Amino acid sequence: MNDFPIDLIRKDFPILDQLIYGQPLAYLDNGATTQKPVRMIDAVNKIHREQNSSVHRSVNYMSEKMTEAYEQARQTVQKFIGAPESSQVIFTSGTTGSINLVAFSMGEAVLEPGDEVILSTMEHHSNIVPWQMACERYGASLKIIPITDEGDLDMDAYRNLFNKNTRMVSVTHVSNVLGTINPVKEIVRIAHSHGVPVLLDGAQAIQHEPVDVVDLDCDFYAFSGHKIYGPTGIGVLYGKQEWLDRMPPYQGGGDMIDRVTFEKTTYNISPFKFEAGTTNFIGAIGLAESINYLTGIGMDKIAGYENYLRDYATQKLSSISQLRMYGTSVNKAAIFSFVLNGIHPYDTGMIIDKYGVAVRTGTHCAMPLMQRFGIEGTLRASLCFYNTTDEVDRLYDALNKVIEMLA
Ligand code: PLP
Repeated sequence: MNDFPIDLIRKDFPILDQLIYGQPLAYLDNGATTQKPVRMIDAVNKIHREQNSSVHRSVNYMSEKMTEAYEQARQTVQKFIGAPESSQVIFTSGTTGSINLVAFSMGEAVLEPGDEVILSTMEHHSNIVPWQMACERYGASLKIIPITDEGDLDMDAYRNLFNKNTRMVSVTHVSNVLGTINPVKEIVRIAHSHGVPVLLDGAQAIQHEPVDVVDLDCDFYAFSGHKIYGPTGIGVLYGKQEWLDRMPPYQGGGDMIDRVTFEKTTYNISPFKFEAGTTNFIGAIGLAESINYLTGIGMDKIAGYENYLRDYATQKLSSISQLRMYGTSVNKAAIFSFVLNGIHPYDTGMIIDKYGVAVRTGTHCAMPLMQRFGIEGTLRASLCFYNTTDEVDRLYDALNKVIEMLA
């Protein structure tokens, strides 16, 4: 991949240029959170230094400028995901905030006793627990799509889960553990043939490939700013207008209202109906800055380079005979979950950290998936477009050192 300007790109991420325990940092924990381009850091700093003022509230110059920048950020997100209208882009605190909003408000709008919500075995806890809570509130229940040993959804089983009580499907676009890229267009098509809406959890997809919500035809799409090189505490929920109009507000407070009296409150239109209180408006502007940075490089180019890294790392890691990989789908992002035979993932993670290689260990907020494979946890290396084949080699070398020491 000589045409990908990796050296220039790494310069945009100052945090990468440091030593950890005297070794150059190889940051391979991007599934947990991504590092920030200097352009985003500077934009957020500048706002705090020069422009900060609350949005949608005052007529003063600063506030009007901030409101303009906030709504501009919404349009940047709208364009990035191909949403028809900016009113369909709701700023939340993150993927978790977005899914909780939908589970609560769609619960209110559509769930009744005996109803069913379809999830999959590979969901993050953020796409399980809010639905479980909604089901408990309305007397509904969860139905779970099983997965194959390779980590693909069992699509025949999915088709068979539908019945007259199915009200909602909520699945991840890309698995944060297995890396599987799910056939989300097909998932949506099948659900819609039964008249059932679909939420896609895009937390691990939006940063890796171009996403077009109209092409996917999903009813909701959720993602987090901090996983797409933006600030923490900001996220996005896209929704189809017909649902946003039908859904009651999730939280009450300032800005989400049309008129308040002690007798009755009428609500604002979306997206404001779902943005109660002072939002993380600086976070939203920072997120837009990161998105502009990514579109400047090109999401297609990013996807191409990450696929190259994925293939390189697959070949390298599969040459370690003591390594057991979980998630071997042919449709896979550059996310690798594995264990070394007879060695606890936590010990492996601790040792390779001393070589400057940062990965994640544990259940990755996906306990039901761990139960499916009968394991307590894995190591996870999650790569992105500022990583290099040298860093993959360093992971490989560090794992071999662990094997020499402990196997
Ligand atoms: N969904 C998936 C697939 C994730 O990987 C994550 C975070 O790791 C989340 C949801 C939750 O994201 P956040 O904690 O940013 O809300």
